[in-house]
Amino acid sequence: MIDNTSEPKPLVVNCPICGKPVAWRAENACRPFCSERCKQIDLGAWANEEYRVPASDSDPSGPNGGDAVGAGGAR
Ligand SMILES: [Zn+2]
Repeated sequence: MIDNTSEPKPLVVNCPICGKPVAWRAENACRPFCSERCKQIDLGAWANEEYRVPASDSDPSGPNGGDAVGAGGAR
């Protein structure tokens, strides 16, 4: 029925960075990335995200947030 079993298909995954098909081999130390570069990019992206999380939505002290509008409601 199936005589293709003699040739084991190498597992192929997609690089999470560039989407390139990467052969999952023990030889490939960068898996699941296609290359060392993509691996570094992923690490950098993580670091960037960590830096972005704090102080992004919160505005502790704006340049004009108090006098311009008037918190007291002078109207
Ligand atoms: Zn890649």
